[in-house]
Amino acid sequence: MQLWFSERETDNINVKWKVEQTLYSKKSQYQQIDIVEFTDFGRALILDGIIQTTVYDEFIYHEMIAHIPLCIHPNPKKVLVIGGGDGGTVREVLKHESVEKVDLVEIDKEVVDAARKYLPELAGCLEDPRVTVQNVDGFKFVQEKTSYYDVVIIDSSDPIGPAVGLFAKSFYKSVHKILKEDGLFVAQTESPLFNKELITDVYTGIKEIFPVQYLYTAGVPTYSIGPWTFTLGSKRYTKEKARTLNKKIGLKYFNEDVQKGAFLLPQYIKELL
Ligand code: SAM
Repeated sequence: MQLWFSERETDNINVKWKVEQTLYSKKSQYQQIDIVEFTDFGRALILDGIIQTTVYDEFIYHEMIAHIPLCIHPNPKKVLVIGGGDGGTVREVLKHESVEKVDLVEIDKEVVDAARKYLPELAGCLEDPRVTVQNVDGFKFVQEKTSYYDVVIIDSSDPIGPAVGLFAKSFYKSVHKILKEDGLFVAQTESPLFNKELITDVYTGIKEIFPVQYLYTAGVPTYSIGPWTFTLGSKRYTKEKARTLNKKIGLKYFNEDVQKGAFLLPQYIKELL
């Protein structure tokens, strides 16, 4: 019998994916975790019925959430990743030679353990000696340190359950505090077609906290309802002076043109800001 996974995008839209096999299925303290193999997009991490990443196109999202901020910073050494338990973002961060330390703060240990076992192309990097994994709530973690990180990357799940606090203005204030005086951060901020209010709220909040702020986009087919947004707040550095990356570090999406073009926004997105 053929298996299909149905992802609810909105009350009125479900997207169906053909499944070859289910590799892992467990309810953790925080969420239902499934790892399945899709026919066309390969292995996928699904949390509470929402696809987080697939091995087929994860490079787009992970390169865009990591390299845009890391190239805007002239010399990123200490990086904090909040969420991101699959390891894909950390893998991209480690491609920057200047990076000496990466702290991954993922609330759910079971996500990290499952990714280590079933998604080694993403989570294999977590064995790198520069990486420390902590299974605590990112919202609380950022309240505990001051002036510590060069770059913070918020690779959270959708704003439901444990991730709700990661979209709050009070959280971005703590992120501002945990960053060094020239630090910057980026957060994944959902779909500009289906999460308009959230994008406006986050951007407006960040504008009140950080002197420099940008929204940029990328198309990630796994997030099937169109383009995806990322919101960046910076204490000092602007996109105009972004570094370029050595082409030999194994990138499939990001390049100099993408670094510039990602910030060009269509009118309907500009109007959200
Ligand atoms: N790329 C993905 C997306 O846009 O859907 C996000 C992937 S990553 C797997 C999201 C992770 O954030 C999940 O593993 C989840 O457990 C974690 N998370 C949610 N709330 C969190 C919190 N408050 N602190 C730390 N991690 C959190």
